[in-house]
Amino acid sequence: MVRVARVRRKSIGADLEIPPGTVLISVNGRELRDSLDLRFYEADAEVQLEARLPSGQSVTYDIEKHPDEPLGLIPELDKVRRCTNACPFCFVKGNPKASRLRQPLYVKDDDYRLSFMFGHYVTLTNLRDDDWERIFEQRLSPLYVSVHATDPAARLRMLINPRAAMIGEHLDRLAAGSIQVHAQVVLCPGINDGEILERTIADLYSRERQVLSLSIVPVGLTAFNADRGVRTLTPEECGRALAAVDAIRQRAVGERSRAWCYAADEMFLQAGLALPDPEYFDDHELVANGVGAVSALTAAVRSDLPELPSLRGKKVVLVTGTSMRPYLAELAAEISHFTGASVTTVAAHNSLYGPMVTTAGLLAGADHARAFDSHRDFDLALFSRTALNDRDLFLDDLSLSELRRDFPELRISPSEHVTDTLLAL
Ligand code: SF4
Repeated sequence: MVRVARVRRKSIGADLEIPPGTVLISVNGRELRDSLDLRFYEADAEVQLEARLPSGQSVTYDIEKHPDEPLGLIPELDKVRRCTNACPFCFVKGNPKASRLRQPLYVKDDDYRLSFMFGHYVTLTNLRDDDWERIFEQRLSPLYVSVHATDPAARLRMLINPRAAMIGEHLDRLAAGSIQVHAQVVLCPGINDGEILERTIADLYSRERQVLSLSIVPVGLTAFNADRGVRTLTPEECGRALAAVDAIRQRAVGERSRAWCYAADEMFLQAGLALPDPEYFDDHELVANGVGAVSALTAAVRSDLPELPSLRGKKVVLVTGTSMRPYLAELAAEISHFTGASVTTVAAHNSLYGPMVTTAGLLAGADHARAFDSHRDFDLALFSRTALNDRDLFLDDLSLSELRRDFPELRISPSEHVTDTLLAL
């Protein structure tokens, strides 16, 4: 059963006056287990929807529509499938002690449904037979899979789960059901780098029709999980991994007309190398997973520059994480040139996770407040929207409105890529 959280305006659900709180029981006689079932079964031209209204009344709706038109019923969040691994580098274990952050941040999810719907990477180690059947029946393709290593022993060492060693069988099983995957490797020095990485790349590349892409991401640690037997990569180790990535990219471009394998921005930053051009990431398909995010942001800013309004005499501060600051400072100079505004960048330090965590999206509200405090006389303060959740809360539960209340003289705006906010002024 699925409970309706919201109903989209101007939708079939709104026309039928289905209220939030309604429990959706079945579509065309098929019981709804979760929101994925709703999405799957509502894609029909004739929909018979059995529901129970908040009043307790049972209702059956007979709906005729275009198969692609959704009902407009937004379900409550599904109960997520929990992870059964114990990776020493797990970011959830890298959170500060419980109660300092929002509770969902302490949930270790490994949910193939979220993988299909939102591109979350999963390990496949917690799949039951009925999950496999559902993947094939509903053709949940592509899935995003944290392969890490095709070498069973190396993957076992990373996930600390006996089922981790079955990665080859799991990929074979998906291939037999025509399920494609985007693969990911989180690179941990001494465990899955070097020859293991080269072997992983070669194995996955050989699955030509199945593996759509491979992302290589350096392991990220915080002040709370840096003592669990994994360390971060040195610049030299990042450089060697990039060489392995480059080798397969050259081959892939020749054989498949696309690079196929992508190193994450952080790999270049940690190697002390310039970030690649946007073309490196082909169509930026993986940008939501942080692969090519900086170059996508750069491209978006540069395409907006000629359209920006005059902001002569205005003072703008951009708050970001320490790793992004040099790139944002370059873009700030270009924005300043086109608008006439004085644009300053500030690198905020991460008080929650410690200095090893340098990305803007993991900064707390308090970190932003400290950065804004010395810029109270500015006109506009921008920060990355990724630091907020969908209820405009920072990781430390400070809300955007509370932050704004503390700085009444400053116009504070979350922003996708800076210029989107400047264009909307
Ligand atoms: S797969 Fe590993 S990193 Fe991901 S949630 Fe599970 S234990 Fe943590």
